[in-house]
Amino acid sequence: MMNGVVYSFKMLLDKLNSLDKQYDIEKITLAYETAKTAHEGQMRSSGDPYITHPIAVAYILLEYMMDTDTICAALLHDVVEDTGIELEAIKKQFGEDVANLVDGVTKIGLVPLNTKEEQHAENIRKILMAMSKDIRVIIIKLADRLHNMRTLASRPPEKQRKTSVETMSFYAPIAHRLGMYSVKEEMEDLALRYLDPFGFKEIENMLDIHKEQRENFIDIIKARIRDRISDIQPPPIIEGRVKSIYSIYKKVYVKGKNFDEIYDVYAVRVIVTTVFECYNVLGIVHDMFRPIPYRFKDYISTPKPNRYQSLHTTVISREGIPFEVQIRTVEMHNTAQYGVAAHWKYKAGISGSVAGEKRFDWIRQILEQQQEADDVEHITEAIKIDLTPDEVYIFTPKGDVITLATGSTVIDFAYAIHTQVGHRMTGAKVGGRMVKLDTVLRTGDIVEIITSNSQNAGPKRNWLEIARTNEAKAKIRSWFKRERREENIEEGKQYLEREFKRNFIAINDDFIQEIALRQRFENIDDFYAAIGYGGVSLSKIMPRIKGEYQRIVKPAEINIQPEEEVNKATKRIQRDGVVIEGIDNCLVKYAQCCNPLPGDEVVGFITRGFGVSVHKKDCANYISSIKHDENKARWVKAYWADTTNNIFKATLDIIAEDRTALIADVTVTLAGNKVPIYEVNAHTLKNGNANIVVSVGLAGLDHLKNIIQKLQKVTGVISVERTGKL
Ligand code: MN
Repeated sequence: MMNGVVYSFKMLLDKLNSLDKQYDIEKITLAYETAKTAHEGQMRSSGDPYITHPIAVAYILLEYMMDTDTICAALLHDVVEDTGIELEAIKKQFGEDVANLVDGVTKIGLVPLNTKEEQHAENIRKILMAMSKDIRVIIIKLADRLHNMRTLASRPPEKQRKTSVETMSFYAPIAHRLGMYSVKEEMEDLALRYLDPFGFKEIENMLDIHKEQRENFIDIIKARIRDRISDIQPPPIIEGRVKSIYSIYKKVYVKGKNFDEIYDVYAVRVIVTTVFECYNVLGIVHDMFRPIPYRFKDYISTPKPNRYQSLHTTVISREGIPFEVQIRTVEMHNTAQYGVAAHWKYKAGISGSVAGEKRFDWIRQILEQQQEADDVEHITEAIKIDLTPDEVYIFTPKGDVITLATGSTVIDFAYAIHTQVGHRMTGAKVGGRMVKLDTVLRTGDIVEIITSNSQNAGPKRNWLEIARTNEAKAKIRSWFKRERREENIEEGKQYLEREFKRNFIAINDDFIQEIALRQRFENIDDFYAAIGYGGVSLSKIMPRIKGEYQRIVKPAEINIQPEEEVNKATKRIQRDGVVIEGIDNCLVKYAQCCNPLPGDEVVGFITRGFGVSVHKKDCANYISSIKHDENKARWVKAYWADTTNNIFKATLDIIAEDRTALIADVTVTLAGNKVPIYEVNAHTLKNGNANIVVSVGLAGLDHLKNIIQKLQKVTGVISVERTGKL
């Protein structure tokens, strides 16, 4: 396993040259030289120059035939973290891909690996995977960790233990998940050596006893099988081995089995060309040796989530010694050996970038899938990694993980920790740097909240807009509700007045009182206060308020407002679907007395400093107004512009024979035609018919005609008319 080998660049070059695959040797050499200069003078605790570590990592990845960029990134993987080199410089020299890989490896290296509890470990694995958007990042990290494990002997004991726990909890399961079994097994065996030196030694000793006999046994079995399948062409590859120490350890110590009871000490592998041959060989093996019941598994017809395919069976030799046989095709074998990395191994050419390709859908799938009940060998707990894009995982400085909705800010984080932390927050640091409170957090961020105990500390009103989660918003609202009644009333009042002006509603205390009562508030102040702390959403109830207003206030007054209030409103210039003759770019609104639709003949009324209000030519208000001389000059020609995408309000008056579900049928017809419904009123007429008045949004006259036709087809409908009435 090349333990303890000190790697030189020469070894890497020799390896590069020995491979069939094309590599950009010049680029790799440049990466090596850059790393060498950067790490100049740094030493590993083994006493070797630091550069031997990145070379070793690159070497491991070369065994997996990873692409040029991955090899370069491996050589450079520690320079940003450990030396003065900036990511920008790497980007300039080696391109975006290498820079992103180095950045990714650096970042996941900063994730605090805390092993308190299993649930937490699972979160961390999720984070590591989620942060490695490019799967090559995690592959480099696995190689990095593997080399660190191989050279762990020179580190102090507490470091050995910590690193081994991390490896066992996070990296080995990820390697397993990605199907990189040889990495997984080596990591586990190395970690076990430090975590339970005695147990490790014991198994090593047991395996050592009769070592010769064991090897002999494997050879005999291999020969027997080879003999029986000699007619298969090309000849199958037959391998035999003693299984990994850790897999035996688990059975002895975790499952409490006797060393003698362990079936899986020996494993024989038969690699053939076709699937047909796999089953054929299985039949032969079962014919030669007695199979142990329930130990047969067909991962060919049902592959593991990580695409592992193979037939597994355990049989007993004539000598009474059980052993496992794995049968698979060459292709399945490659997948089993290299897992995810197999993609690069069999990809020709220099660059293995996956950016433009159809990405690794199957990786996503295995990551998203729940781990199936795995075979006995892998009692490693299920690693459910769902890369849900709607969640981010954020760390406290202590390494606890807080899960938040994507888009969450520092404020959400503070409230997620504790309500009081939120209320007392005065600032925040992400990754040790002060940030603004609207900073959107990303998976892996380490966030520290700065709080104050001052009497004046408390959330700010605009936090309600910054916070993303309902939890945080609710807490902020309840704080304002409790702590700041006067302020709330003032804030709510101002907000309501602004909204009223925007909607051309005159401020009138009686009217507001009326609305407050309808909203079930005892008085106007309570109503204002509720708006102030966000308990009432004004924008939600605004349509209803407008409706009320239309009912209560005379149509003629709608357009006329005092000058000073109007000036503010005119700042909001909008270009609508109507062209007013002689006036450019003016504020246009549609008279609510007649709700003109595109296609209607219209006229404009210049209100006092307030823009133009557009009426239908047959509007009663226009007809009566034009009779008065003082108004005449204010009426101007208006016509519809050629194209409008606006939705206009119209009121439809429907008479129908009363029956159950009549209103439902009408609204379904409207909704089915994508017509927004603003209001529906219905009552029974004296003659027993039903009258439904519905206000809807329409695109224009043609649309109106079309909808009227549709409504007339509803069973029982007698007439449908558009009304200009209030
Ligand atoms: Mn490293």
